[in-house]
Amino acid sequence: MAETLCDWSKSEVKERAEELHALTRDAAFFCRKCARVANDPQVLCKPYKFEKRLGKNHDRP
Ligand SMILES: [Zn+2]
Repeated sequence: MAETLCDWSKSEVKERAEELHALTRDAAFFCRKCARVANDPQVLCKPYKFEKRLGKNHDRP
């Protein structure tokens, strides 16, 4: 079972910056409870997909 980004403490965010970068790159999901974002819904406790129209700005080359 995967720990969610939402559970990370401030020190974990600092220590696991590379992992955080990998998980949040091109994020397509956000947590409705904690406002975290990720490209993998499994790392969010209340994952919700960004609407396509909201994701438009992320599609720049
Ligand atoms: Zn959450």
